[in-house]
Parts: sequence; structure tokens; C-alpha cells
Amino acid sequence: MSKTIIISNRLPVKILEQNGEYTLEATEGGLATGLGSIYKQGNNIWIGWPGLEMPEDKQDDISKKLHDMSLFPVYLSQEEINEYYEGFSNEVLWPVFHYYASTYANYKQSNWQYYQQVNKKFCEVVLSIVEPGDTIWVHDYQLLLLPGLIRNAQPELSIGFFLHIPFPSYEMFRLIPWRAELLEGMLGADLIGFHTFDDARHFLSATGRILPVRASSNIVSINDRSVVVESFPMGIDHDKYASLTKDDKVKEQIKLLKANFKGIRIILSVDRLDYSKGILQRLQAFEMLLKTYPDYKEKVSLYMIVVPSRDTVPQYKELRDQIDKKVGNINALYRTMDWSPIHYYYRSFPLETLSALYHIADVGLVTPMRDGMNLVSKEYVASRTKNDGVLILSEMAGASKELIDAIIVNPNNTLEVCGAIVEALNMDDDEKKRRMSSMRKVVEKFNIGHWVKLFMNKLTEVKTLQQSMRT
Ligand code: UDP
Repeated sequence: MSKTIIISNRLPVKILEQNGEYTLEATEGGLATGLGSIYKQGNNIWIGWPGLEMPEDKQDDISKKLHDMSLFPVYLSQEEINEYYEGFSNEVLWPVFHYYASTYANYKQSNWQYYQQVNKKFCEVVLSIVEPGDTIWVHDYQLLLLPGLIRNAQPELSIGFFLHIPFPSYEMFRLIPWRAELLEGMLGADLIGFHTFDDARHFLSATGRILPVRASSNIVSINDRSVVVESFPMGIDHDKYASLTKDDKVKEQIKLLKANFKGIRIILSVDRLDYSKGILQRLQAFEMLLKTYPDYKEKVSLYMIVVPSRDTVPQYKELRDQIDKKVGNINALYRTMDWSPIHYYYRSFPLETLSALYHIADVGLVTPMRDGMNLVSKEYVASRTKNDGVLILSEMAGASKELIDAIIVNPNNTLEVCGAIVEALNMDDDEKKRRMSSMRKVVEKFNIGHWVKLFMNKLTEVKTLQQSMRT
């Protein structure tokens, strides 16, 4: 029986080590939830890095435990993690694809060599497992070369690729010294998916300009093969977020939060620590609000969660210090005996707390400088089961193409973001209801399960068409 193989940099598992003993726990991120419907079925599997450098003598034992969960590991050394993951993926691809090339990109030759080496390592694991007739779905920017490597070894396989971050315009992408190799790698797939139409358009334009291939409409012709390029906006597990609001633990937290913030309206901001999230600019807009509209003092608080991420990397540490300083300054200037303008947390929260915050926050303030999709905005909407609350959303987030009833802002425009907060705080209930119920319908319909189905069906369709054209 043929199978489907999911491949991503990280396996959906958390491995904990205590005194040389390892325990495994499945993780439930957005992608893991969505793809759970696939990799847990039949003899389907998921291939990826387990998230830790593993001593060689422990690998067999861990592999056995992982196989029981339909997971197959690619073990990486610390050096490989540093160069392929931290180096190339996060210091070349991440900044360039998020339009931060001139500030943060570091084009180190050794990083590129490791990126190639680790993509080959993933390919070897795939080839040791794959059989004719199987379907492969490769995920994200850490594995751009993998579709091409698999295609060279097994030309007939059905291969899909999905990019979870933005694909930049040609003028950005062309800066990468290894741009042609990266595109060739992606074009090993039969179907290439992006979150938005603009990402797909940028990819097609870069391909047509950089490679000697024909790119017309949404099809790239390369070596007698046709590669289909399309947008598939990723959704969330809507029902999970909607039903969480009725969970006893969540209800308890909602009660506590309401008691703590009696008479104070909450603006919620939730991000991973990253320069692409526009956290400092958001703080600036909130400061402008307090300065320009002093009536909001003691009436509104910003509840800001920043989830720690890569804070040993100097640029991230610097960003964290800048956020600490800015929050400190605003609080020192404006706080009163019984009110704090900003409630800032530098840590992650359990899902129940997050759900309670999503449910009670009067305003969801999501203003990234650039974001492939942004799931937080969709989670906020799914949690508004009473059709209240207002979402302010950056036009630079992929989600803004779907959540058109949010107040859409340019995150660089402090005045506009500040104005949007005022508009949100003054919006009448009917207008809130109209906007939120329409966004909830979108999030409910285009959920994560729908996204998986759409992509897989399209991959089958593309492959069937290719085969029928050959016969
Ligand atoms: N999140 C979390 N714990 C927290 C705060 C956030 O697990 O304490 C999750 C959040 O629910 C969302 C994800 O982190 O699913 C962030 O995804 P998003 O697409 O917004 O941004 P990314 O971090 O992928 O760039």
C-alpha cells in the first residue's frame, strides 16, 4: 500500500533528557494538528529532526520509540544545527524572505555548504524509506533543496512543497548568492504552495528571471515537467479554539482576568521574539495613544506576551533589551498607584491562559512588519465566540488577505496604528459583531483540515494530469 511522507525540519515531538534517559512527548502545534490527520493514518509517516543533539549510542533506542509514533528522525550534529539551521536558514533565508536582507543577512559560504549537506542527509533518510507510488510533502524554508534532491533520485514520485514564510519579490530574492540552486531545488516538486497569491507571483517572477525556464500563468515548465504554483492560505484548528472558551479551566482564568482588570480595557499582543513582528513599533503606537489621548490613562492596558526565541543570538538579544527598555520607559512615565499601562511577559503561556486572553481582550493588536500568515490573528478571531472584540491587523501579514473585516493598518505608520486603536476602542457593538462574525466564518470554513485536504487533492490532480499527458 502506498503511503504519504511528511517532511519538515522539526518532528512534532518534544524530547526531554534526564540523567541520560530520554522521554518523548508529542507536540500539538498548528502544523502537527493539521497533519495529524495524515501522518497518523495507515502506514504514513513524518520525517524530521527530533530537536536535540542525540548521543550516537542512544539513537537506536530513540528511533524505536519514534517509529512507534510514526515518526522517523534525521539526527543532526551541533555543528550541522549551527550552520544549516541557525546559520543558513535563520541568517540568510529568514531575513531575506522577510525583507530584512540589508540589516540581518549574512551570506557565509560554510553555512551554504552545511545547508546542502543537511538537505542531502534528509534526502538519504527519505530514500531509505520511500517506495514507488508514495506521496511526499516537504515543508518550509529549511528544506528548499530537498524536492530537487528527491526528484533526481526518484523521478516518478509525487512531491509537494509548501513554504510557510513569505516569498519575497525578485529584487530581494536575487541578493542571495545561491538563488538559482534554491529555485531549482523547489522546482523538484510537482506542486509548490504558498500562503498568498503575492508569494506565488513573486516566486513565478523570480523563477522566470533567474532560470532558463518557461513560467506562464501558474505553471513552470522545466525538463519536460510541469510544476504547478498556487496559493493555499493555511488555517487553524478553529473548533479547538472556539470550544476552549467553554472549558472549565479557561472559564476560571477568564473570571480571574476579569476581576484583575475591572474597568480596564485590554489590548492584547502575542508574538515570538522576532524583528519581523514589529514589537517596538507597536509599543511606539501605544505610547502615542497615551500621550495624545490622556483620557485613556487608567482605562486601557496593553497585555503583551513575547515568547522567548533564539535570545542567545546577538540580534535577538538586542531586540529583547530594546523591548525591555521601551516597556520600562512607558511604564515608568505613565503608571499610577493602581494601573500599569503595559503588562509585559517574556515567556510562553499554556493554551488555556492564551485562550482566556484571546476571549476577553477588547482589541487584538497584530502588527508584524512581515509575516507569512500569522496564526495568532486567526486564533483571536476563533476565540471570539460572542462576536465581540476588534482585530487590528497589519497589511504585511498573509492573514490580512482573508481577514478583511479587521482594521487593516500599515505597521510602519505609527499614527495610523494609534488611530486604529482609538477606532477599535470606540467601535459600536453592531459594527464589532458584523466584522467579527464575518471573520469567524472565514476562519471556521478555511480551517487547518480544509488546508490539508485542498493541498493534497491538488497534488493528486497535478500528478494525474501529468501522467495523462504522457500517455
Ligand atoms: N503561542 C504559544 N504559546 C504562547 C504564545 C503563542 O504556543 O505562549 C503560539 C500561538 O498560539 C501561535 C504560534 O505560537 O499558534 C505563533 O504562530 P504565528 O503564525 O502567529 O507566528 P510564528 O511564531 O509562527 O512566526
